[in-house]
Amino acid sequence: MRILKSADEYSEFSESFRRRGSSVGFVPTMGALHEGHLSLVRRAQKENHFTTVSVFVNPSQFNDPGDYHKYPRHEVTDLALLEAEGVDAVFLPDKEEVFPEPDNTRYELGPAAKVLEGKFRPGHFNGVASVVKRFLELAHPNKAYFGLKDYQQYLVVKYLVSGLHLDTEIIGCPIVREPNGLAMSSRNERLNPAEREKAGRLYESLQMIKETNQGRPSDELGSAGRAYLKQFTGIEVEYFAVVDPETMRKPDPDDGSIPRRALLAAHIGGVRLIDNMGI
Ligand code: AMP
Repeated sequence: MRILKSADEYSEFSESFRRRGSSVGFVPTMGALHEGHLSLVRRAQKENHFTTVSVFVNPSQFNDPGDYHKYPRHEVTDLALLEAEGVDAVFLPDKEEVFPEPDNTRYELGPAAKVLEGKFRPGHFNGVASVVKRFLELAHPNKAYFGLKDYQQYLVVKYLVSGLHLDTEIIGCPIVREPNGLAMSSRNERLNPAEREKAGRLYESLQMIKETNQGRPSDELGSAGRAYLKQFTGIEVEYFAVVDPETMRKPDPDDGSIPRRALLAAHIGGVRLIDNMGI
């Protein structure tokens, strides 16, 4: 496995595969890897000749500096996990390699960037767009893999890539969960065992909404989700919404006759967690 630290090296490495007519799959991550990340890696390996992974904690997508500083970093373990998976190259750049000049562009990111995560984390999606654009332009992978755990991010990246006419197909991959239903996340390691157990309630709330969604309007489902979680001390809900999965707006018709998606953000033990489910 090659470990590439400079942008030029990374670009050249990917280019060398493409010159040989091989396809390249790319998995961008912020490290502290878990089975969710590895599921993306395995999918990329299945669908491409070569797989590259980036590990970069992107400061520009953190609207809260405290969250950036507390974000877990496990470079040695991450590299060992990727090596064991048979990844071809890891891009492990410093901030200066990624952003030699600050990127002050305001990206056009479509409707998904304006609500929920977009509203509660101002600037977050612009920071995501900035780093994703940079990585895709450096390496031009054939396909890039994103988890549906960050559902809005997936929509925003698809919108960005299509607007900029980048030649990478964006693939959304299913959410990988802990046995109690908690969506795997690097942030979960900041939860103590009791909080981690409690965080399984987030999944339960989505399941409950899915099971009782027939014919009920989205506002009512959102309120029911919030009410369910309110029963448990130590869970602070930031939002719980049911929306059209394409437009992220109120579904029309809003009677369950078209697919809808429930999305939530909540704080448990000082950790901000997100999750979602098609209902
Ligand atoms: P992150 O390192 O948190 O930026 O995540 C890197 C990629 O892994 C993103 O596309 C995430 O959506 C994806 N990912 C994170 N957690 C999961 C999970 N539990 N299941 C599936 N994909 C995930």
